[in-house]
Amino acid sequence: MSADDLVVQRPEGLYCPAGDFHLDPWRPVDRAVITHAHADHARRGHGAYLAHRDGAGVLRARLGDVALQTLDYGEPVHVGGVRVSLHPAGHVLGSAQVRLEHRGRVWVVSGDYFVSGVDGDVNPTCTPFEPVRCDVFVTESTFGLPVYRWRPQREVMADVNDWWRANAEAGRASLLLGYSFGKAQRLLAGVDASIGPIVVHGAVAAVNEAYRAAGVRLPETSRVDEISDRALLCRALVVAPPSVRGSAWARRFGDASDAFASGWMQLRGARRRQALDRGFVLSDHADWPGLQRAIAATGASRVIVTHGYEAVMVRWLQQQGLEAGHFRTEFAGEGGDAEAHDG
Ligand SMILES: [Zn+2]
Ligand SMILES: [Zn+2]
Repeated sequence: MSADDLVVQRPEGLYCPAGDFHLDPWRPVDRAVITHAHADHARRGHGAYLAHRDGAGVLRARLGDVALQTLDYGEPVHVGGVRVSLHPAGHVLGSAQVRLEHRGRVWVVSGDYFVSGVDGDVNPTCTPFEPVRCDVFVTESTFGLPVYRWRPQREVMADVNDWWRANAEAGRASLLLGYSFGKAQRLLAGVDASIGPIVVHGAVAAVNEAYRAAGVRLPETSRVDEISDRALLCRALVVAPPSVRGSAWARRFGDASDAFASGWMQLRGARRRQALDRGFVLSDHADWPGLQRAIAATGASRVIVTHGYEAVMVRWLQQQGLEAGHFRTEFAGEGGDAEAHDG
């Protein structure tokens, strides 16, 4: 670390000394720039929040009536002496990379991000990741191991639809588990709504409202109480957070087939340990090649890793001839903070 670093690590979170503000701090601070509304990045108790406009609905639903200033992507604002702008991270609705410019130096703090594959596969529920040129890039590494390579989303969604169709024909409901902010909407946007009715858990319904209000198209969904026809419920796709497993709420669907959609499902053991019928590998984080592509596209000569497989990523970056290090953060990675985080 050097004295003129634009971002440093502090006990309360990542801090920009030149602008006197924090980025996704985990303890209460005066001014917080927020990359996205997942709970490990957007916490309670800050004096003022700055975030992307599309994330405002989810932020307010989670944090109440906080002092929130919003920006469009690419719209600059000066905070202290620093020019701050937000750029798409492709992770969830309103997710942003934060570009900081001060005295000719540019740093980008990317929060969590998802990059489209080489075949142009994108998350249809938010603005796709855009690489931003910088001197120093601060990156996550949630799936920073070579074993993590995502198949195209349309192939995964075809598997989800096949599973749902087969269950519906057998008269069983399909309980599809995914984190309520981000993953659930991505699943809903990708399923074939002609197969049967779609039921969502209350936690998912609340976030859906924010997505629809921001102009994201999702299929028609119902709450469980709105479907009285038992036969119809047996054809339903039920989208709910993983925490409902084994609950009275989930038992209303009888002998449903259950599945979990997460990047962690790449490891077969993870599905077996949880005794799930199916695991669908679908993540809102970059896979190993995606992280490498994203980092290279920034042109940064120095990279700082925040969370995930830090040591593996730092070693790989050093092998590429880059200056690399890491910040110790309290970001949860995928599913570490289950209700909050996506997978
Ligand atoms: Zn996140
Ligand atoms: Zn995160």
